[in-house]
Amino acid sequence: MKRLVKVYDTTLRDGTQGEGVAFSMEDKVRIAQRLDALCIHYIEGGWPGSNPKDLRFFKRVQDAVFKTAKITAFGATRRPGVRAEEDTNLQALVEAGPPVVTIFGKSWDFHVTHALGTTLEENLAMIGESIRFLLKHFEEVIYDAEHFFDGFKRNREYALRTLLAAEAAGAHCLVLCDTNGGGLPHEITEIVREVKKVVKPATPLGIHVHNDTECAVANSLAAVAEGVNHVQGTINGYGERCGNANLVSIIPNLVLKMALQCIPEGNLRELREVSRFVSELANRKPWTAQPYVGDSAFAHKGGIHVSAVLKHPETYEHIDPELVGNHRRVLVSELAGQSNILWKAKEYGIDLDKDTPEARRILQTLKQLEDEGYQFEGAEASFELLMERALGNHRPYFELDGYRVTVDERKADGPIAEATVRIRVKGIPEHTAASGNGPVNALDHALRKALEDFYPNLKAMSLLDYKVRILDEFKGTAAKTRVLITSGDGDETWGTVGVSDNIIDASWQALVDSIEYKLRRDERHGRR
Ligand SMILES: [Zn+2]
Repeated sequence: MKRLVKVYDTTLRDGTQGEGVAFSMEDKVRIAQRLDALCIHYIEGGWPGSNPKDLRFFKRVQDAVFKTAKITAFGATRRPGVRAEEDTNLQALVEAGPPVVTIFGKSWDFHVTHALGTTLEENLAMIGESIRFLLKHFEEVIYDAEHFFDGFKRNREYALRTLLAAEAAGAHCLVLCDTNGGGLPHEITEIVREVKKVVKPATPLGIHVHNDTECAVANSLAAVAEGVNHVQGTINGYGERCGNANLVSIIPNLVLKMALQCIPEGNLRELREVSRFVSELANRKPWTAQPYVGDSAFAHKGGIHVSAVLKHPETYEHIDPELVGNHRRVLVSELAGQSNILWKAKEYGIDLDKDTPEARRILQTLKQLEDEGYQFEGAEASFELLMERALGNHRPYFELDGYRVTVDERKADGPIAEATVRIRVKGIPEHTAASGNGPVNALDHALRKALEDFYPNLKAMSLLDYKVRILDEFKGTAAKTRVLITSGDGDETWGTVGVSDNIIDASWQALVDSIEYKLRRDERHGRR
């Protein structure tokens, strides 16, 4: 039997500490569902005591079904001098109500006396009492030993006593944290060995490291090599300062290089897509040279490499790129991975046999749109429509004759946007006008006004999130704008994309796709 290493994702909490990373609540729900499909073991949803948005997330996912992942909430041990039962932070965790909770406590004596301003003994009591209290309310209580490695280097005896306090209280896992991210692999190895001499052999240990020495992945693996069976990190390594440990590298390293059990091996094929999905929702450009999943990870340039790699891929590739959902690219002649598209098409229930004219047509359309700046990772709904259009199955629900948007600055009320839309629905011309707090909002209102008499189910749908990215790779000509819209109707959440030189036009495309997707799906499910 292979040893099982569980993965604990904290993209939605620690990951959002990264500069430029922000997720709306809908983004967080979509990411949690995507990670669950990947079979990640734990998904940390946020810190309910620290902000109301996180508490709303936990309420929102209470009814959602997660097939593998356990949702966890994050918080701190009780405050000094307060009973655990009366601590508002601990109460917020109980109110959030997920099956698992993770609390952090101080391991470094300096932090206890100088940051917390309490005694070393009180800190030990805070750890033990908080865990005992939480065990009454949760299936599992995970203990994060904050600053453990730094604390161990300064006051080894005290750092170990904090761990033993958590162990004695019954924590299900003791997670050793390199919070400042300054550790190196050989130090992690030595310290984990020392910890193992002190805790009970059956006590599960975990690792949570940051990337300040660019060793976060290596440090996590060093801990696993010493028998640690619980690894915390984030998708793409997003996180404070230089980031957290990157799970997109750790997971294939565990499965393919260390032959350990983690997520099902077949699911590794989703890694590239998950990585790009999260980067799209974070509104961050994918990292081209990202190991395993980046565009350049299996890109070959130059005559000798290319001919060798085509004959014997192992000459210049450490793994088969398909194993992680990536594909070989031979620069000069851009070969997009057709199998990738077929796989994606299958996922959407569109059957495409290998190398049919339809597959070629979809591939061609996709390549062309990607060249224009489209990205479909966060826009599954637009991709589905793209396939339908390429296959000739698409029947538009309305036709546009024209639209017009104006923005007026009025001294008293600030700017006001107005939109008029002229469309034809089932052959009938419709002409509507509406206002909104911005041009896109006004367009959305005017379009719905024109459509809702014909398609009343649109009333259930709303625009949940709107993201804009300027595509600077097109700077040479005119800067292009990519708009990503997230919509939902209570049953489902979906993403659509539009690209144009003009932000209104890009928004319009994404808006239209969003409505088309909703109408098409409802029609297929007989909900009209
Ligand atoms: Zn952290």
